[in-house]
Amino acid sequence: MISLNDIRSTFLGYFERQGHRVVASSPLVPRNDPTLMFTNSGMVQFKNLFTGVETRDYKRATTAQKCVRAGGKHNDLDNVGYTARHHTFFEMLGNFSFGDYFKTDAIPFAWELITKDFGIDKNRLYVTVYHTDDEAAEIWKKVGVPESRIIRIATNDNFWMMGPTGPCGPCTEIFFDHGDKYWGGPPGSPEEDGDRFVEIWNLVFMQYEQFEDGSRRELAAQSIDTGMGIERVAALLQGTNDNYSTDLIRSLIEASAHATSSDPDGPGKVHHRVIADHLRSTSFLMADGVMPSNDGRGYVLRRIMRRAMRHAHLLGAKDPLMHRLVPALVRQMGTAYPELVRAQALIEETLKLEETRFKTTLDRGLKLLDDEIALLGEGKELPGEAAFKLYDTYGFPLDLTQDALREKGMTVATEGFDEAMAAQKAQARAAWAGSGEAADATVWFDVADKHGATDFLGYDTESAEGQV
Ligand code: ATP
Ligand code: MG
Ligand code: MG
Ligand code: MG
Repeated sequence: MISLNDIRSTFLGYFERQGHRVVASSPLVPRNDPTLMFTNSGMVQFKNLFTGVETRDYKRATTAQKCVRAGGKHNDLDNVGYTARHHTFFEMLGNFSFGDYFKTDAIPFAWELITKDFGIDKNRLYVTVYHTDDEAAEIWKKVGVPESRIIRIATNDNFWMMGPTGPCGPCTEIFFDHGDKYWGGPPGSPEEDGDRFVEIWNLVFMQYEQFEDGSRRELAAQSIDTGMGIERVAALLQGTNDNYSTDLIRSLIEASAHATSSDPDGPGKVHHRVIADHLRSTSFLMADGVMPSNDGRGYVLRRIMRRAMRHAHLLGAKDPLMHRLVPALVRQMGTAYPELVRAQALIEETLKLEETRFKTTLDRGLKLLDDEIALLGEGKELPGEAAFKLYDTYGFPLDLTQDALREKGMTVATEGFDEAMAAQKAQARAAWAGSGEAADATVWFDVADKHGATDFLGYDTESAEGQV
């Protein structure tokens, strides 16, 4: 059985033989890009090469890029525990051409790698193209994909833009059909959101430049940007549709099961999956210098940690759990990502401290939540004031409460939550005004109102972010 680590080296080795420079993953905190919360695709570190602002001594590159999608336009936090194919942290394998080769090479490269080097059965592959991209459809036919497996898509899913202006162009995506024992339909169908037809690779053709007035011109230097999810390829090569059953993630699930003396596939199955996922994202974020805090990136990290801690609690863990799982992660990924080894002690200490602190309010908060639910009856909406109390008094991020309720088919009345938050801010402002320091404080409160006091680098302040 091919391991995840072997898949990484096969991919990079293939493109190295095709004249690509193997470039190291960039950190999860993007350099030079304060608008982007976390690196969420392979192209992020190459943005300036695509726009021509920067050139390097290579025109072809290949990477295994660490990605986090837990905030901003691409937020998969709520998918974790629910789909077989999404993580908050994952690795994206990619090949890039900076004004060098284009579609006629990119498609055959991709096809050769997956059908020959990885040996994936052609009869289970489908491809999508943007509805007007006849050129891409022709190339797919030429490499041997029958017309019936080429699906034309007219939505923005298949048209990529770097931002409101700048490089853009059509995409082509490669899907694998895991078979009819799973729910889901082909791309473009109403059931496309299932785990049967899984998108494994997305190729972007940067063909045009878009201007402010909406017009487009063919780029002189056309480029390629691709992204393949390593865990999804590992799943299919290991004979499963479930990323969480692959060698690397399974070993983390087993570590969680072992540490809580529970069955990895028993009633606590979902908790183990969430814990394994969140262990990776929180550890890698800390290895790249993010520390838990009450705003910006640090607050996203804290939210992920606290979500994991609630799941640990539900497994019956009496003492802090997450830090005990770090050695299992370092064993699996420390060779490919030495920053994890360097930060291991810091990661363990920080997780332990956060969990110890949160435990004191977690138990009481969950008790309060249970009482509220009992009062309401299942299938109802939790009043916003209750969610606010959990946030304010017990340190429950709103999304943690929502995660807890979703298991029971319940939601939060978010307007009520926002109102309670606004009321508290108004109160704080009034109290401050009375203290005689009003002049400066008003400015601060205005800024806080506009941007959110605790979420300054909020969830939707991103622009210019890569789809792939
Ligand atoms: P999906 O439609 O399945 O959410 P996507 O279109 O959002 O995927 P892209 O932005 O095209 O994903 O990213 C390129 C590749 O990265 C995808 O084809 C997929 O293999 C992988 N990928 C994307 N998001 C995730 C995730 N949250 N966890 C694991 N792999 C992912
Ligand atoms: Mg997605
Ligand atoms: Mg997609
Ligand atoms: Mg995609």
